[in-house]
Amino acid sequence: MGTDHAFAELGLAPGATEREVKIAWRRLVSRWHPDRNESADAVARMQRINQAFEALQRSGLLDRTPAGEPGSEPTAESATEAQAPDAPGPSRPPIHRKLKLTLEEAAAGCVKVLHGRVTAVCATCAGAGHQVLGGHCERCGGSGALSKRSFFGWLGTAVECEACLGGGIARQVCGACEGSGKAPAHKYRISVRIPPGVRSGDLLHVDSRRSRSERPPADLEIRIELAAHAFFRLDDAAAVHCEVPVDGFAWIGERTVTVPTLAGPQPLPLRRDTLAYRLPGEGFPLARKGPRGDLWITVQPVFPAPLSGDQQILLDQLMATGSRADGQPVDERLREWNRGLKAWARNLPPRPG
Ligand SMILES: [Zn+2]
Ligand SMILES: [Zn+2]
Repeated sequence: MGTDHAFAELGLAPGATEREVKIAWRRLVSRWHPDRNESADAVARMQRINQAFEALQRSGLLDRTPAGEPGSEPTAESATEAQAPDAPGPSRPPIHRKLKLTLEEAAAGCVKVLHGRVTAVCATCAGAGHQVLGGHCERCGGSGALSKRSFFGWLGTAVECEACLGGGIARQVCGACEGSGKAPAHKYRISVRIPPGVRSGDLLHVDSRRSRSERPPADLEIRIELAAHAFFRLDDAAAVHCEVPVDGFAWIGERTVTVPTLAGPQPLPLRRDTLAYRLPGEGFPLARKGPRGDLWITVQPVFPAPLSGDQQILLDQLMATGSRADGQPVDERLREWNRGLKAWARNLPPRPG
């Protein structure tokens, strides 16, 4: 590989310094290493990156030991360092979490303890799992491939050299991560106060400095999800709806039944002319920490089906009390309706045919 080609392979202009070459090489390795990049051409790309690096080293165009860089291995720079686990700072990307709340928790607000672990790439090897020593790989002599030995002697088939992963450049397993490419998991635990009135999809930003011990390595960004409720339904106007089956006779008898609210069970006196009941201020907060919407209880009177013999007799007796001796209803409203109905039927035009 020519040197101009090699510079180009590393995305550099001809004449780049050794430091620039190494930073570019590290950046490309952290992106294309087959352990981290599953694309089909990652292995081939890694080989070209390593061949370009080696070609430039061989060319003598690079100053092997620039002043101020004894040992000539630059420390990992670039984007990979931003993922290092022990580098605190406000610029670190937040840890994304989902938090599922019940409607009751979301309505009243609550405190939740979140714990988890964060894994980051090894800062020493930028996630590659190895460190480059420079020079040819001893195992394969720099070719990146090993001939496969069979019972019949040497065959033409070649396999990728395990020692250099086909790159041809001597390397050693990273001592910091023992080759895994990952930093030790960072465990955290933080108590989070959820304000009243959060809804599904809301994002809460939690400052990691609120945690006194086991502090998260970055701030948390929490996406709220409200769990579906067995019998409450929240609408967009902060009203909560609930359908409650009640004993039909209790409804007629205007008894008091127990209904659920977000704050717990509550007595509700039934009215026999009413199915939907508004409980003002018992709904969901209209805004975070704001006043609350209403709770609508819709009762569904349930009657026995079929009625028992006793119930049928009692019902017949009850209905008999609604009629006068002349068969007309006791209630004037019904008598008036009956008169109107008769008059209307009398005045209908004769049916054609
Ligand atoms: Zn090798
Ligand atoms: Zn490492």
